[in-house]
Amino acid sequence: MNNQQWVQRDLNVLWHPCTQMKDHEQLPLIPIRSGKGVWLEDFEGRRYLDAISSWWVNLFGHANPRINQAIREQLDQLEHVLLAGFSHEPVIRLSEQLRELAPGKLARCFYADNGSSAIEVALKMSYHYWHNLGKKNKTRFITLANSYHGETLGALAVGDVALYKEIYKPLLMDVITAPSPDSFFREKGESERVYAERQFIHMEKALERYGQEACAVIVEPLVQCAGNMRMYDPVYLSLLKEACDRYEVHLIADEMAVGFGRTGTMFACEQANITPDFLCLSKGLTGGYLPFAVVLTHEKVYQAFYDDYTTLRAFLHSHSYTGSPLGCSAALATLDLFKEDSVLENNRFLAKTMQEATAHFTDHPHVAEVRQRGMILAIEMVKDKVSREPYPWQERRGLKVYQYGLEQGVLLRPLGNVVYFMPPYVITSEQIRDLAQVAWEGIRRATQD
Ligand SMILES: *Cc1c(COP(=O)(O)O)cnc(C)c1O
Repeated sequence: MNNQQWVQRDLNVLWHPCTQMKDHEQLPLIPIRSGKGVWLEDFEGRRYLDAISSWWVNLFGHANPRINQAIREQLDQLEHVLLAGFSHEPVIRLSEQLRELAPGKLARCFYADNGSSAIEVALKMSYHYWHNLGKKNKTRFITLANSYHGETLGALAVGDVALYKEIYKPLLMDVITAPSPDSFFREKGESERVYAERQFIHMEKALERYGQEACAVIVEPLVQCAGNMRMYDPVYLSLLKEACDRYEVHLIADEMAVGFGRTGTMFACEQANITPDFLCLSKGLTGGYLPFAVVLTHEKVYQAFYDDYTTLRAFLHSHSYTGSPLGCSAALATLDLFKEDSVLENNRFLAKTMQEATAHFTDHPHVAEVRQRGMILAIEMVKDKVSREPYPWQERRGLKVYQYGLEQGVLLRPLGNVVYFMPPYVITSEQIRDLAQVAWEGIRRATQD
């Protein structure tokens, strides 16, 4: 069967995520037959370089032989067992390794089965912790403008991307939203650090005013990925952690997208030298293989739930696939790759190549900024370079770059007017340069009228 036949069958029966399905009257859907390394291949042998790691999940390429092998071995041993009342080797070994790896003393691992559900876990756990301590007025959450934490109702409520959230507002809990430290809006000549310190004043005020009723502040450390890959200085996180402690409010770090080496360090929090109260991990945790997630927290939090069953202090939250052995085995193989291959060091070299390959982009009359944190590089297109007036979202300039990329065998999937690279760590320098070439030409075409 060729691509077209698969597409017809697909469009008869599927409803795709994050998609206006009518788009597919014009926009071709791409059925993928196989993947290998940075490449995805369709049913007619056309290849696409996966420059966005299949929605930011893939770290070491598609069909990585070592991760494949680990999952195969686990499959023959034990495919799944419930994690209530039972345990298994991969989940114990993974928890021990995550505890070693995570910043500070995050001693306890609670598993979920996708990123949004990990956020639900952290929100509920934070609230329940204060409840168990008798602080029953703590029921609210503080979040940043332009943040994203997933699509389930709790996660959506603490996020702030209007496109995903607006319509569901009547269903969502009320949160306190502080302005973002997003460096894009700093004054000309102002450093990212100074801007972050200046923006922190708003957060300090929010904590002062709402600290008594707030359970936690939730942030995406360093990069607001779904919020158009906007970035900010680590000083904001240092100030935030200090203030959270002062006001007795938890800090939830959502490292779903930035964890596992994406921003240059294993976890983004390390760049601010902080330990959050809850660290939420998913996406790269399994190397991009399986739906899987974990929330790490302090022993102190765990102890606040430890009591006789009848006191209702227990955290009675569960997902059917909590701590899946297959997910654990993929995660263990992923962590082995980090240990064996000096990944972070090699990424520094790749990140520098990305920077050099796109250095000239800032000269483009419709490029406002090229920004980067490690293995995330983003190029922001604007209508007017001086005033930074954005292109109206309805013009869908990014879509033009997407389409041009596909014609050239590159999967770029811009967020609005922001074209970005977030490739698997197995990409080569030469592939990065090809990618930059395609992005440049795509941007040129998308902005020429
Ligand atoms: C992807 C993402 C989530 C949600 O994870 P899902 O597995 O898609 O539910 C939450 N937070 C951040 C920062 C993310 O990038």
